[in-house]
Amino acid sequence: MLYIAFIFIIVAVLAGCAEQRSPDEYVGSTSGTVQIPAKLESAGEGKQQEPPAVEQADQGTDPAQEQAAEQESDQEPRQEQGTEKETESVVEADSDSEPVIYTATLGAIGDVLIHRPIYREAEQKDGTYDFSSVFAEVSGMMQQPDLLIANEETMIGGAGIGLSTYPRFNSPHEVGDALKEAGVDFVTLANNHTLDRGEKAIQSALKYWDKLHMPYTGAYKNAKDQERIRTIDRNGITFAVLAYTYGTNGIPVPEGKDYLVNLIDIGSISADVKRAKEMADVVVVSMHWGKEYENLPNKEQQTLAKQLANMGVDIVIGNHPHVLQPPAWVEGQGGHKTFVFYSLGNFVSSQDGLKKRIGGIGLVDVVKKMEGGRTTIRIENPAFMPTYMYYNNWKNYRIVPMELATAAELSQSKQNFKSTMNHMQSYIPDLSLIHAE
Ligand SMILES: [Zn+2]
Repeated sequence: MLYIAFIFIIVAVLAGCAEQRSPDEYVGSTSGTVQIPAKLESAGEGKQQEPPAVEQADQGTDPAQEQAAEQESDQEPRQEQGTEKETESVVEADSDSEPVIYTATLGAIGDVLIHRPIYREAEQKDGTYDFSSVFAEVSGMMQQPDLLIANEETMIGGAGIGLSTYPRFNSPHEVGDALKEAGVDFVTLANNHTLDRGEKAIQSALKYWDKLHMPYTGAYKNAKDQERIRTIDRNGITFAVLAYTYGTNGIPVPEGKDYLVNLIDIGSISADVKRAKEMADVVVVSMHWGKEYENLPNKEQQTLAKQLANMGVDIVIGNHPHVLQPPAWVEGQGGHKTFVFYSLGNFVSSQDGLKKRIGGIGLVDVVKKMEGGRTTIRIENPAFMPTYMYYNNWKNYRIVPMELATAAELSQSKQNFKSTMNHMQSYIPDLSLIHAE
């Protein structure tokens, strides 16, 4: 109760500050929704005004802290587990003052793979593409987290250089518009398809992400761009986001152009994480890893997760297996606990087979506490909402919340939904279910 009362005090203070600022000061902040249970009617507020919200810029404190105080109680009991770390940053508040707490919800979705039938269906009469209907039924959920990260597996090089599907993808620019519109705040681009259509597709895609003011990481325009660690602020918490892939489907990285895609290399990851920790409160690492279609993380993923935990990474977002793998807490040196989404499956694809059509939105709360010159970060309330990639006859592509899938959309939907949640709770039995509304 004390905790809740305390949040109210913070809220009052922040709300007071908020009133004295011009709206321009809020560039970079979204609605700041912290509630996990979905509220479609309140979703999306503010997300449309996404500005160039990256790059070490201090975008100020999000005024929407009051959401934290309103956390609804139909959520699963709060987890005791969490990660706590001390940072060496000097806190401005004097050491006698009350602690200051900031909370932000981080969300992640799995692989976005734009196969040919999906872009065929999205093509409009005027030659442009519109993917909004693919996300329409889950965009409310996608708007809920303060920061939503997506693995854009296919480069959005645009129709100008010729679209293509598996095995060498190139997708329309408009995929980016749809993701942004639906609620994605950050894209990771290091994966086995990054080099599919070469540098041309990558440069064209990056230019388009810039045009959308969508921060990206994992593939870069040049060495200088690669050097720059991306950070993004939400509700007074600074997140750094890094991304790496195990490989590029045998396509060699062009000589002297290592910046085109970040490969998994423990030495360079460790150096990046070290720099990221100096700049941010929370370090998030996207890992394109594991074996395709394996339901559980393999030894290699577990070893890498442990190495990332030892580096002090806070959250790992795994992707590539195209099926769900259960998340876990991984303990590193000094008891540091890292939350690992081993694989979030496919969010958008035209892959066939039930398991490849199931993905979801993974969520965690990040709590930053500043007290007596010390800043600690806790990761709390891991949660998941399974989604199902509906399509029929290679048409009518729509991501549906699995819990709401009708029998016509997914046979034995209730049973499949239950077994999916059970699977995801393998390592964390109290992993919360996010109910779709
Ligand atoms: Zn992949």
